[in-house]
Amino acid sequence: MNGIEAVVYEREPSRGARGQGGMLDIHSGQRALREAGLTDQFHAIARSEGQDMRLLTPDGTLLLQEDTPDDAPLARPEADRADLRDLLLDSIPERAVRWGRAFTSAENGLLRFADGGSATYDLLVGADGANSRVRAQRTDARPAHIGSAEDWIATSGSPFNDPAAARARLIDLFAGRDARFTAPIAACDDTIVPRPITTLPVGLTWPTTPGVTLIGDAAHLMPPVGEGANMALLDGALFGLAPAGHPNDLPAAVEEYEREMFERTSAAARMSADIRELLMSPDAAQKMLAFFQPDGI
Ligand SMILES: Cc1cc2nc3c(=O)[nH]c(=O)nc-3n(C[C@H](O)[C@H](O)[C@H](O)COP(=O)(O)OP(=O)(O)OC[C@H]3O[C@@H](n4cnc5c(N)ncnc54)[C@H](O)[C@@H]3O)c2cc1C
Repeated sequence: MNGIEAVVYEREPSRGARGQGGMLDIHSGQRALREAGLTDQFHAIARSEGQDMRLLTPDGTLLLQEDTPDDAPLARPEADRADLRDLLLDSIPERAVRWGRAFTSAENGLLRFADGGSATYDLLVGADGANSRVRAQRTDARPAHIGSAEDWIATSGSPFNDPAAARARLIDLFAGRDARFTAPIAACDDTIVPRPITTLPVGLTWPTTPGVTLIGDAAHLMPPVGEGANMALLDGALFGLAPAGHPNDLPAAVEEYEREMFERTSAAARMSADIRELLMSPDAAQKMLAFFQPDGI
């Protein structure tokens, strides 16, 4: 939109190559959709019922129920990942995305891909997610595993290649909980994809340099409590807007973008770490109830 030519090199072979996973709670990130003139399209895919909330203790006692009226503003609806990705892909020229291009390295203005191909660049923006390969250009920081044992997926004995058996095993792991917690697992008719939860250090920064920057999980991987995709959307929008204030000076735009991004995403990562700790505590439901009270915690 600001007249800067951009190309997305994407590892996946095509738009439909992989199931995109579940839903995203989209709130602050809606600014990106507004800046791109995509608000109406977003409202068409937004799931307003995702704004309702129930808070239950493990035995099923209802602590909090919030039902949002049908005409409530779409402040934080859920959106299917695949719908959101299609919406964004449909808004840019087809030629802007090069599918099947897995980035391997960058040096002296030259990108290299796993298929042996290469391309030149002026500014490399690493948007390659949690296990980013571009990240190493800016920092030595690596994602660290949080939660149960790091090798749990391999050693738990859960048959993830057999969806029905994997579902049964997952339901076993929630033994003693109210049936409302396990019903969504039983109702799933798709494959089960186990994902280790990893995070980057809270408040990670690096010295700004012209030529390479990072957005999204590549820059600030945080616990999944509803902020990561919103921050990624905001990164993209604010990075896209920065050059307007610095015409013909991309290094200055990168510096402005990173200054704001470091501050905003550090706060989101700190809050996400606090909520994750709260969710892992034995009396999580009561603590969440206190969190949602008007004066919060
Ligand atoms: C269970 C769970 C629930 C979540 N719920 C929410 C939520 O409700 N709200 C929220 O805001 N966030 C949520 N998140 C976080 C959110 O999913 C991420 O923060 C978000 O997807 C990050 O977007 P991204 O574009 O930076 O990375 P990704 O979505 O990981 O996209 C990275 C892209 O780069 C491509 N790629 C990777 N490596 C290469 C390579 N070498 N070469 C070329 N391409 C490459 C990948 O194929 C992919 O298309 C959740 C996360 C999890 C795990």
